[in-house]
Amino acid sequence: MKLVDTHCHIYGEKYKNDIEEVLAEAKKELEFIVNIGYDLESSKISVDIANKYDFVYATVGFHPTDISKMNEESLKQIYEIAKKNNKVLAIGEIGLDYYWMKDEVEKQKIAFLKQLELAEEINKPVVIHTREAMKDTIDILKSKKNITGIIHCYPGSYETAKSVIDRFYFGINGVVTFKNNKKTQEVVKKIPLERLVIETDAPYLTPTPFRGKRNKPTYVKYVAEKIAELKNISIDEVIKVTTNNAKKIYRIED
Ligand SMILES: [Zn+2]
Repeated sequence: MKLVDTHCHIYGEKYKNDIEEVLAEAKKELEFIVNIGYDLESSKISVDIANKYDFVYATVGFHPTDISKMNEESLKQIYEIAKKNNKVLAIGEIGLDYYWMKDEVEKQKIAFLKQLELAEEINKPVVIHTREAMKDTIDILKSKKNITGIIHCYPGSYETAKSVIDRFYFGINGVVTFKNNKKTQEVVKKIPLERLVIETDAPYLTPTPFRGKRNKPTYVKYVAEKIAELKNISIDEVIKVTTNNAKKIYRIED
């Protein structure tokens, strides 16, 4: 069994010269990868790539910093794409971001809720982005009891994780390898492996020892190694359990 990259953005400027190479390497080393959309255009591109490569899947949705592009028409298109394409695994990334968008809290909440309702309607999990907005994010998720999914780049505490751990998985990426990030390291020690999934968020958040360079899906191995070290278990155990977790939450059959 191999690792999975449950959250990456392999499209656009950063990969314009070597996307084929990056994907070929990922195909060789990983079980599958999930390209994440953040608006209508990136969602369409993600689906196109997923339709071209059997080991690539996609998600579609409006990231909280891109909700200005969300309207009745564009949301309807997201709905249609998600409904008719079986390579679309989830609605995402959606959520709340009070770090970049402090002024539009109410608008963000409405956009988040609308997209959660869309996920309910087509019966798919969600991929959540939350930054400096944990309390509101959790309150909204608690109000939607049928929703399952991944809280990507999980920035919260163990206590907060526990409050939705029956329905959610927690995405861990390169930030856990950063020397000064004791908070994420402590959280990873406490959350059961059965609730963790591994991601890169490539091209961003490149793990040590490549911090500062462009990220790519095969770097999930550095995240897996760090999780094994923190939990004092074998890398094989990390691969087996987190890959199973990814298949479960994204509903991929063997
Ligand atoms: Zn992302």
